[in-house]
Amino acid sequence: MSADGRSVSILGVTGSVGRSTIQVIEELRAQGMTIPVEAVTAGGNLAALAEACRRLKPRFAAVADASQLAAARTALDGFGVEVGAGQAALEEAGARPADWVMSAIVGAAGLAPTMAAVRRGAMVALANKECLVCAGPLFIEAAKAHGATLLPVDSEHNAIFQVLTHPARVEKLTLTASGGPFRTASREAMAAATPDQACAHPRWSMGRKISVDSATLMNKGLELVEASYLFDLAETSIDVLVHPESTVHSLVHFVDGSVLAQMASPDMRIPIAYALAWPDRAHVSAARLDLAALKALTFEAPDTTRFPALTLCRAALKAGSAQTCALNAANEVAVAAFLEGRIGFLDICRTVEDSLSNLEGNETALIAKTPSSFDDVAAVDQAARRAAQRIAGSLAAA
Ligand code: NDP
Repeated sequence: MSADGRSVSILGVTGSVGRSTIQVIEELRAQGMTIPVEAVTAGGNLAALAEACRRLKPRFAAVADASQLAAARTALDGFGVEVGAGQAALEEAGARPADWVMSAIVGAAGLAPTMAAVRRGAMVALANKECLVCAGPLFIEAAKAHGATLLPVDSEHNAIFQVLTHPARVEKLTLTASGGPFRTASREAMAAATPDQACAHPRWSMGRKISVDSATLMNKGLELVEASYLFDLAETSIDVLVHPESTVHSLVHFVDGSVLAQMASPDMRIPIAYALAWPDRAHVSAARLDLAALKALTFEAPDTTRFPALTLCRAALKAGSAQTCALNAANEVAVAAFLEGRIGFLDICRTVEDSLSNLEGNETALIAKTPSSFDDVAAVDQAARRAAQRIAGSLAAA
């Protein structure tokens, strides 16, 4: 099996991962491969959706906002594409019969459309980590029950997936982290950081939400949760190391003392192409590693005082999947408030931490038990969002 002849859908085609996926498909098509595109989705960026349709020629395109249906039809007129809008259309995009589905919608909004692909046993290329952070055990169970194949795209998890030769003989994993734009910044500088400074990632060009998460190291915490569910390992068996060169994408330590790492230039086209061609590999024109030019690779322990997000994520993971779902929801609210200039950079983690202990009435009971359905997951998500809005609102007013 290779990428040739594989039909694909891209959930979140207008984002950073979505655009890199378009580039990989175009590159493989230029090599003579046939890669038909079934469906694509966007949040609300119709111009970018039209550009994606022009390049990919999908059968179906969906936008998240139901009120944009008429505008989407106008924007996509002439591309010969069926157009849908609203939640049902996003889920239809996942449910349509593509062999391979890229899950690259940002946030918990990606869960239901991705589940539509999981339920029909598709190959699911998972960039969206929130599916696992919000609904880890249910998501993994559903993938097993429906025969879906999960292909990790997050570069760290993709690296582990590439070198996981003996899953039953793993001693621990090490996730590497670039350290983000504030790796060496003082707490004072972090307190005064603007959204543009937080989004100026030193190694990767990504969407604004994940860029802020990289700056707080929340992204690494969410990845730790993702790795725990994906590779079925306890939080205590997953280390994090800051590696500013972003060349070693993660490491697997085996019981005999051997350590396998995957290295590559920091370019999302590499893990995307790996997932698209899996179990084969495909030629990608990403920059080749020049280790002599790099000279040295450095590693350091993360500073959990300036970056408390890692500790928050470890505690949530130990407490169970309702807590990781609530943490993610609170973080989405806090990052949005920071990007809108309503709260400061250090208030993001404060909002997340306080939200988990600031639920009201029956909300506390809700996050104390493991969700047994996706409706339970949605209820936890909503409760944590309400708590985070309250906390962020009071921090903004202070
Ligand atoms: P972007 O913000 O660049 O893109 C997000 C995509 O989701 C866009 O297509 C956007 O549409 C769409 N979207 C936003 N809100 C909604 C919604 N409510 N309903 C449906 N669609 C929506 O994000 P990234 O590409 O950076 O990240 C996507 C996912 O991949 C995240 O989960 C991230 O953690 C993960 N990831 C990203 C990496 C990267 O290098 N960027 C690396 C590894 C993982 P529109 O453009 O129309 O708003």
